[in-house]
Amino acid sequence: MTSPHRPRVVIVGAGFGGLFAAQALARTAADVTLIDRHNYHLFQPLLYQVATAGLPPSDVAWPIRSILRRQRNTTVLLGEVTGIDRQRHSVQINERAIPFDYLVVATGSTHSYFGHDDWQSFAPGLKSIDDATLIRRRILAAFEAAEMEEDPQRRARLLQFVIVGAGPTGVELAGTIAELARFTLAADFRRIDPRSAKVVLVEAGSRVLAAFKEPQSAYAQRALEKLGVVVRVNALVTGCDAGGVWLGAERVASATVIWAAGVAAAPAGRWLGAPIDRAGRVLVAPDLSLPEEPTIFVIGDAASITLADGRRVPGVAPAAKQQGRFVAGVITDRIAGRPGTRPFVYRDTGNLATIGRKRAVIEFPRLTLRGWLAWWIWGIAHIYFLVGVPSPVVVSLRWLWEYLTYGRGARLITGAEHAD
Ligand SMILES: Cc1cc2nc3c(=O)[nH]c(=O)nc-3n(C[C@H](O)[C@H](O)[C@H](O)COP(=O)(O)OP(=O)(O)OC[C@H]3O[C@@H](n4cnc5c(N)ncnc54)[C@H](O)[C@@H]3O)c2cc1C
Repeated sequence: MTSPHRPRVVIVGAGFGGLFAAQALARTAADVTLIDRHNYHLFQPLLYQVATAGLPPSDVAWPIRSILRRQRNTTVLLGEVTGIDRQRHSVQINERAIPFDYLVVATGSTHSYFGHDDWQSFAPGLKSIDDATLIRRRILAAFEAAEMEEDPQRRARLLQFVIVGAGPTGVELAGTIAELARFTLAADFRRIDPRSAKVVLVEAGSRVLAAFKEPQSAYAQRALEKLGVVVRVNALVTGCDAGGVWLGAERVASATVIWAAGVAAAPAGRWLGAPIDRAGRVLVAPDLSLPEEPTIFVIGDAASITLADGRRVPGVAPAAKQQGRFVAGVITDRIAGRPGTRPFVYRDTGNLATIGRKRAVIEFPRLTLRGWLAWWIWGIAHIYFLVGVPSPVVVSLRWLWEYLTYGRGARLITGAEHAD
């Protein structure tokens, strides 16, 4: 490269993909700029614990600045990216333009309400710390309002929680809310019995955890039902409002509806004017660059990648991390004058989902397991995941403590909203 300055690498998004790319560029002779609209890197796999009052937000998110404070070649900017100018090679943060020689777009995904965006205010999804604290507030406020409520019908509505979507996040939320009601809150109220709360898990498809094999799905459904969760499969939500959801003509009354049903890519495709798939993910070349634009890469949940064997790379954290490291390697090679191209190779690390505090299902490439042992493997895998973020030991210990005591340390209602 003949530019008068050191090559400038701009990374948009400090999630798993973007952060791992930035860290892998630590020794590259380049100036790296990492931009995120939040000042924290979020560990999404444990976000449901914040939403269900198990962990405080500070245990699942860490300031990006502090993670990268020793990385001298990297600047962190807090800002909402609003566009990308491919001609000028710059990223827009409102009026400001940040120039780049190499760009990595790692903006992740967002909720999809399948064309019903007006449902969002009644049924928040779980993607950010703000989402998690909003859901936590709604769950806890519903129990408080039920304690005050005299009318049995309204009380029943307050004590009915609906989760839409039975993928891993929906299953985790349903199991944990059921346990919150059955164990943690059981002795805390006088006028209501929190154990009478009902959790309804609604799934449009024919089984829970559809990404897993059938026996695992069946096991997960049985485990949820043992916790008192009502599982409704083949049930399509056709309406959602302040009173609950509609499943066709059937009304399921609820003051707390949580959306865990669909994801859509953040607007990277629109910014780049690049081809996208049905979920809005950018279709990238085998080396994760834009076709005919070898200096712009899209990775993680924002990218759609089909491998040589026809498999699609799933939207999971290990895939985003692997892609982050991979593009950092490609960029480092180009800067060092080693052009050439090689395709991204995905190493499948398997599928895991937990059902409450005792059961989980796992499908590793060579091992399929369910039950309590799977739960412990799930737990250890998440602790292993935490390596690389600040204080993994503290988080793991706090989490273990919550597990052993059924404590719900983060049970504060903050913010203005109340259930009614
Ligand atoms: C609740 C939940 C639980 C999950 N559990 C698991 C699990 O157990 N195991 C697993 O493997 N995967 C899990 N996932 C999926 C996993 O978290 C994602 O696949 C992974 O985070 C994708 O990484 P990413 O870097 O592409 O995007 P993200 O990690 O989502 O990061 C995107 C980043 O881009 C930033 N950003 C977005 N738009 C802009 C903008 N316009 N300007 C500036 N910054 C922007 C965001 O603030 C964010 O920091 C879970 C996801 C969720 C939501």
